[in-house]
Amino acid sequence: MSAYLDHAATSPVRPEVADVVARHLGDVGNAASLHGSGRRARRIVEESRELIAHHVGARPGEVVFTSGGTEADNLALKGAWWATRHAAPAPRRVLVSAVEHHAVLDPASWLERCEGALVEPLPVDRDGVVDEAAFAEAVAGGGVAAASVMWANNEVGAVQPVARLASLARRHGVGLHSDAVQALAHLPVDFTASGLDAMTLSAHKVGGPHGVGALVVRREAHLSPLLHGGGQERDLRSGTVPVPLVAGFAAAVEAAVTTRELESARLATLRDDLVSGVRAQVPDVVLNAEGAPRLPGVAHLSFPGCEGDSLLMLLDAAGVECSTGSACSAGVPEASHVLLAMGRTEAEARSGLRFSLGHTSTAADVAALAGAIGAAVERGRAAGSLRQVG
Ligand code: PLP
Repeated sequence: MSAYLDHAATSPVRPEVADVVARHLGDVGNAASLHGSGRRARRIVEESRELIAHHVGARPGEVVFTSGGTEADNLALKGAWWATRHAAPAPRRVLVSAVEHHAVLDPASWLERCEGALVEPLPVDRDGVVDEAAFAEAVAGGGVAAASVMWANNEVGAVQPVARLASLARRHGVGLHSDAVQALAHLPVDFTASGLDAMTLSAHKVGGPHGVGALVVRREAHLSPLLHGGGQERDLRSGTVPVPLVAGFAAAVEAAVTTRELESARLATLRDDLVSGVRAQVPDVVLNAEGAPRLPGVAHLSFPGCEGDSLLMLLDAAGVECSTGSACSAGVPEASHVLLAMGRTEAEARSGLRFSLGHTSTAADVAALAGAIGAAVERGRAAGSLRQVG
């Protein structure tokens, strides 16, 4: 059995969630149908919506089910853009923090390429936290069609001051969207109290099934749908609602939120043990975002002289599964845009690995990493110096 240290990529489905999904796979009925089977399906969807809304401090009518975090992020950005196209003058600026997930960065750059948006990346400090003064100046500049700052970063775990940013944005009539995909399992998330206009959630990061998530969006916010058809989900997301996935999503949110306080404390201790275990073997390891408020389950470490992706494969061979946290296009490892935005060099931005913990993590997983990391780094450094010579 491998030590699974990649919960930020996907967290194993909780057994009680698997039961709920399996139970509802046998149901007959489309939640949009008027007959008894349809009404039963609709009741499950609406109960799930109420439960999720309750646990994230939203009203049920604010929860719009989507196919996951990626679709919700796309809906937040492109939907806000298209909703203002007929204003005169139409706003053209799109503000996104420089450390967003690609599910936010890529729709923003698509809007720039195809729709003439002016995308402005918002800078972060060396710990990955958005510069509030720069944010305040950007929202004060007018003409903002969409603005997005994630709640917690998926690579280094830095937590952003979203409530303060939302309040700054509101002062200038700008509604803020936040990707809370990584936050939900580990931090108290209250949509109403945050002052956000919209917020992204994904089931599989909290022990739910893949392929379902939500955009939580204030009823007053203006958004155009990406998908047109049956008019489901307040006409913001047409398509038959997947009842078993939505029920599983609600069960996962319930389990994650009700155990969160104890789990977060347990994971923070495990994470600190993980960092000290690695430091004991590799004294020059660098903990990224060390000075920021961080997710309890995430430790992003840079190993000077190593390529993150080679180290990942060496650890995998030793039975430890983790991630670089950054993209890899056509097999070529990219330097992490998050670490580059945090002021690291290209080499530093390629030498990092993310270890992320969650509801199945144990001290044995952390011990497995401590047992494997020394030899892996030694081999990774030898390979790196061979590449330099060659
Ligand atoms: N946003 C963040 C911060 C993520 O970490 C992820 C998943 O890696 C996503 C969005 C995409 O979510 P999904 O896999 O549900 O499309």
